[in-house]
Amino acid sequence: MPTALPASVYAQRRARFLQQLGGVAAVIPAAPLVTHHADCEWPFRQNSDFWYLTGFDEPDAVALFLPHRQDSQFVLFVAAKEPTAEVWHGFRWGTEGAVAQFGADLAHPISELPQRLGEYLQGAEGIAFRVGKHPKVEPLVLQAWGQQLDRAPRSGKAALGLVAPCPLLHELRLRKEAEELELLREACRISAEAHELARQVARPGLSERQVQAVIEQHFMEQGARGTAYGSIVAGGDNACVLHYTANSARLNAGELLLIDAGCSLNDYYNGDITRTFPIDGRFSGEQRALYELVLAAQEAAVAAVGPGQTAEGVHGTAVRVLVEGLRQLGLLVGEVDGLIEQGAYRHLYMHRTGHWLGLDVHDVGAYRLGEHPVQLEPGMVLTVEPGLYVSDRLPVPEGQPAIDPRWKGIGIRIEDDVAVTDHGREVLTASALKSVAAMER
Ligand code: MG
Ligand code: MG
Repeated sequence: MPTALPASVYAQRRARFLQQLGGVAAVIPAAPLVTHHADCEWPFRQNSDFWYLTGFDEPDAVALFLPHRQDSQFVLFVAAKEPTAEVWHGFRWGTEGAVAQFGADLAHPISELPQRLGEYLQGAEGIAFRVGKHPKVEPLVLQAWGQQLDRAPRSGKAALGLVAPCPLLHELRLRKEAEELELLREACRISAEAHELARQVARPGLSERQVQAVIEQHFMEQGARGTAYGSIVAGGDNACVLHYTANSARLNAGELLLIDAGCSLNDYYNGDITRTFPIDGRFSGEQRALYELVLAAQEAAVAAVGPGQTAEGVHGTAVRVLVEGLRQLGLLVGEVDGLIEQGAYRHLYMHRTGHWLGLDVHDVGAYRLGEHPVQLEPGMVLTVEPGLYVSDRLPVPEGQPAIDPRWKGIGIRIEDDVAVTDHGREVLTASALKSVAAMER
């Protein structure tokens, strides 16, 4: 099985993409190998746009989408089969595999791209190519474009435009097919299990990294390729550093442990879950008060996910619950509406409540189109992840109370992955528990 999704899914995506391109030809390059150090490379990970349209998991490839041609609308340039290279670096599909397994109408060795690109683009009404990201392919595209501009006056055709393929493609990627949702469910299931395991093993005296090891071992045991992103295993005040990934401290009794970790099933379908619990099994009064508040905000925000709603509305719901609660706890003073308007809570809650989830963990797709927030539709998937982070890293806004030391060093986030359905939502990560009772032991 060359791809994680049936070949028909990729074929349908290409058909939709070709239709939306109108008469414009698209050039979508694969990702290159990236050097880690010396002659070692990072494990290969395909360009998500290229993967979305092809399912082809090799570097040194370029996909052409040519709606202006009758017979060869999907052309792949790929690394040619070569025994020596395959002995060192592994199997390649080659041009025959590109046609037989990946549905290309035609395939050529990547070495022929410079000679052939101009000809393939001839007759298109424009070229869709993402400038600034593909330094090897970009000069070839610009050269082909230049040649077409040179020919335009004589051919009598209007000059070609160079446009970005991203808006079209990312709009398509925002809506997940049933088969994609199935893979996301599996990534979320494995990720949720790892969080349950982590809570069972975490105890004072262990290091954050030992807990990280339990989580990541479970990902791989369950068949996932690895982590979707650098796992955050943050005890106590470390949880107030949003992108903490050192994971090198000891776990202390009396502190909370925040874990933000998810597996990547096959490099392209990811879970993204955060849970926070007391390391010694019991919340302190302050920890419990803030945990209950974040949980209330998170549950209200999850309930605000549904068709016709917006990510902005989900965020607004979480912020309102948090601000009301922080006022009751004396961590904010003033009118709720004014506090929200002025952002007077941002020293305690400084990030948005979620992001699209898909092939990329922070997936592509617009949140607003001009003045209008994008409305949620069935098939869209987003995270819902409010939190509170009480430390003195950020200044307390003027007019707000200084933070009593008893609150400091408490960082809490609760994050679920939520798919929009026809009538509401499906919490893909529901099997990771989050009630106060479940967090204690
Ligand atoms: Mg996360
Ligand atoms: Mg997230």
